[in-house]
Formats: sequence, structure tokens, C-alpha cells
Amino acid sequence: MTAPARMVRMIGDAEYRDQAEATLLAPGDTSMVFRSRPRSIVMACPDGCGETLVINLDSRADKAWRFDMRGEGLTLFPSVWREGGCESHFIVWRGHILWCDRFEEGNSEPAYNPEIEEAVLSAMDEVHPRNAVEIADAIDELVWDVNRAAGKLVERGLARSWKVNSGWVFVRLI
Ligand SMILES: [Zn+2]
Repeated sequence: MTAPARMVRMIGDAEYRDQAEATLLAPGDTSMVFRSRPRSIVMACPDGCGETLVINLDSRADKAWRFDMRGEGLTLFPSVWREGGCESHFIVWRGHILWCDRFEEGNSEPAYNPEIEEAVLSAMDEVHPRNAVEIADAIDELVWDVNRAAGKLVERGLARSWKVNSGWVFVRLI
């Protein structure tokens, strides 16, 4: 088995899934199925198992992931988790693949930009807890970026966070 991919390589897009799949050569290679709108992402499983992952982007059909191409590359939210087979579980964030549960020692996050901290803090409320998705929507930033910045604000005592059923929520302390 080859080493797990640490970066997504975007090959391009295609109208149909089999065309997109035919362009994938190495683990982490990714292509988009685009027919008048983004339909799905097909990715050669980045753990090297040889399977192809299909990640739905079309909210009109089934559960859909958020995707974004700003910055250095592809971002998907939430994480990709294959429940059968190899059980790969990873985050795709600005082209980086961040492994969960295994291979984690080689993870490398995208560079941190502290400039969004002010916007993240201002999008938090002092009373009503908000999650990273709500904050990201309010300031048009990536959920993973917001989540990391919010965590740093909590570390510095400017915000507080706790876990609810759907994940972490934040309130501003100042
Ligand atoms: Zn796999």
C-alpha cells in the first residue's frame, strides 16, 4: 500500500461520474462532476486502498457537503467519513487532507491567518451561542478557518465554548 495522500490534487471537471473517475491516477486525485451545477466530487481514496469516493454536492439530492475553492485548493465540510471498506475519515481544508483516527502524525494544517479573528469574534453573540457554521455564514469564511480561530479566541479567554448535540458552540466574553 502506498503512503496516504496529504494533499488533494484537483484534476478538473467532467459531465459524468465515469468520465471524472477515469481521470484519477493517484490517491487524493480529485475531479468534479459538473452538469450545469456542481453535482459531486469523485476522489481516489487518499489512503491508497484503490476505491473511489463519491461526495455529493447537490443539496437537491441527499445529504450534501459544502465545498469551496478559495485559497490554495478544495475545502469540504463536514469531514469525509467512509463507513464501510477502509473506513477512511479525513478533513479536506484548502487542499490539505487532514486525517482523523489514523495517519494523524503526518497532518499539516493550512497556514493560520489571524486576520479573521476580529470578524469571528464580532460574529459571536454574548448571549446566544452560535456554532462555527453560523459564524462562517455570517462573515463568509470557511467553517474550518472559523473553527480554528474560535478555538484560539477561547484559549485567550475572549470567548467560551461548549459542546451541544450538533457540535461546539461559542459565545463572546467581551
Ligand atoms: Zn480507502
